[in-house]
Amino acid sequence: MVNTKAVIPGSFDPITNGHIDIIERSADRFDELLVCVLRNSNKKGTFTPEERIELIQSSVAHLPNVTVHSYGGLLVDFCDKMGATTIIRGLRAVSDFEYELRLTSMNKKLNEKVETLYMMTSTDYSFISSSVVKEVAQYDANISEFVPPQVEKALLEKFNHLN
Ligand code: ADP
Repeated sequence: MVNTKAVIPGSFDPITNGHIDIIERSADRFDELLVCVLRNSNKKGTFTPEERIELIQSSVAHLPNVTVHSYGGLLVDFCDKMGATTIIRGLRAVSDFEYELRLTSMNKKLNEKVETLYMMTSTDYSFISSSVVKEVAQYDANISEFVPPQVEKALLEKFNHLN
């Protein structure tokens, strides 16, 4: 059975052009796409979940079938709650693979109805991650190629504030 609702989960701390590429390409292929900021991670984020959601919302406003959510529990429970049986993750490099394999295997054990699909990153974005963008932004590097303008502004404000 084809279920046309998919979930893209992640930390999105903050959203980058790499995330947006995966979101846009998925939004083309599913009727409904739910971007979910997961709050159950051990790591303390640079941005609060509310700030991340706001930055995602302004970055995907041009996509009418995309909605933004946050969840503090298990991802498969969020999928159940929302009636979605597909998770989409992006793959950048071989280094992502092992972690993703463990994550997907665990989610499959927790709920066998939920399937995870992987989308290869576009080569232009393969080196972009939230953490690398944050690292260079701290040293005032130009990050306009890697994130939307409002995220660039938010990062500059965050780091100026900390200095
Ligand atoms: P997590 O902290 O769960 O890895 P992220 O916010 O880093 O979440 O990423 C969310 C999803 O987006 C993951 O599937 C990740 O692989 C994917 N992703 C992150 N950066 C990129 C990129 N530059 N190109 C393609 N996919 C990406």
